[in-house]
This record gives sequence, structure tokens and C-alpha cells, in this order.
Amino acid sequence: MTILQIRTVPDPILRRKSRKIREVDDAIRELAHDMVATMYEAGGVGLAAPQVGELKRLIVLQLPEEEEARILINPEITRRDGEREVEEGCLSVPGYLGTIMRSERVKARAISESGAKLRLVADQIFAQALEHEVDHLDGILYLDHLKSHEDLVDLSKLEEAEHQHDFEVEVEDEGLMKSRGEKRVLIAGDLTDGVADIKDEKILEATEKDLERLSEG
Ligand SMILES: [Zn+2]
Repeated sequence: MTILQIRTVPDPILRRKSRKIREVDDAIRELAHDMVATMYEAGGVGLAAPQVGELKRLIVLQLPEEEEARILINPEITRRDGEREVEEGCLSVPGYLGTIMRSERVKARAISESGAKLRLVADQIFAQALEHEVDHLDGILYLDHLKSHEDLVDLSKLEEAEHQHDFEVEVEDEGLMKSRGEKRVLIAGDLTDGVADIKDEKILEATEKDLERLSEG
């Protein structure tokens, strides 16, 4: 299995929509297993294919209380109930945490790596991770759900964050959400280099907005 490179903000691929997977073949299964290995290595709860540069509707999840990772192909959320406040991080937005609202419970359907149809009912961190990863497939980052820039925390500005490389965050006393404590320094050059060949105005705007938000946080 290969550890893949995780794309980080402001990489414009994070703002693009992923395509449905027509056939679950060995290439898809290989990508899924590489994503699981990459997620373990990074200490994340979930990972979506666009985060490793593949615009395919494929996500993997590793829930704190489960032994095996879940591989979900073409996941779709079919119902959302309730609302709760959560703290959230993202492997593509290293060094930051945000407070946003997520659903209390979601229902979803997906296809397994063997091609079986799955129906899922999720709450707590499972629901949160599903919403987060399915968002990635539509080019949405948790940053888009922030109500104000004060809800975004730059971990490098927290005293303790300096000597923490791995930290754990408690999500409403349920499950633990791991994220990397490393900070990516954003400079203007990153944006120009990364998006020089992007013609889509919307993606360019969203990418610029990502940079703005992070500098405010
Ligand atoms: Zn993410």
C-alpha cells in the first residue's frame, strides 16, 4: 500500500466536484486501500479522494470505536436530523480547528468495495465524519460552515500547540477526533503558483477565500 500525498488548502482541487464511480474495479479498491493507509498515517478520522488528488466519489472513515476502516463509494446523504455544535479539523487544513454546526443524525447510502449496496444510519462522530467527507466530494470544506472567523482557531497561536505534534480533541464527550498539529505557513506565492492554470472563476474565488479565512483565524 502506498501513502499518498494529502492536498492542503489552497490547492484548488479541494474546491472541485468529484465524479461518480461507474464501476468498482481493482483500481478503485487499490485507491481506497491507499487512502486508508494514508488516513492512518496522518491520524485522521476520514479522508476523501479529492484530498489525495482524485476527483472520485470515494471516502474512507476510521471511527474511534471500530476496528476496521469503512470504505464508501458514491456515498449520498439521504436524510439529516437535528443540529449540534462540534469542533472540527481537516487533514487538508492542517493547524486549524473550527466550531461549526453539524447534524445530529444522518442517513446515507453508498456502495461497498465489493459492490454491495449499503444503507447507513449514523450519529455522533460517525454522522459528523460522513457529512465532512461527503462535503469534500462537492468541493466543500468545513471552513464554509463557519459563522464567523472567530470560530476558527489557529493552533500555532495557542501556547501549548507549539510542542504538540499530535493532539486529540474531545468532540462533545463522544469519541476523539485526531488531527495533525502541524502548521502550514500560507504565503501569497502559494496561491499564485497553485492556481495559475485555473480558469474557473468560482474555484479561484473559493481558493482565495480559503486563504483569507485562514489568515483571519
Ligand atoms: Zn477534511
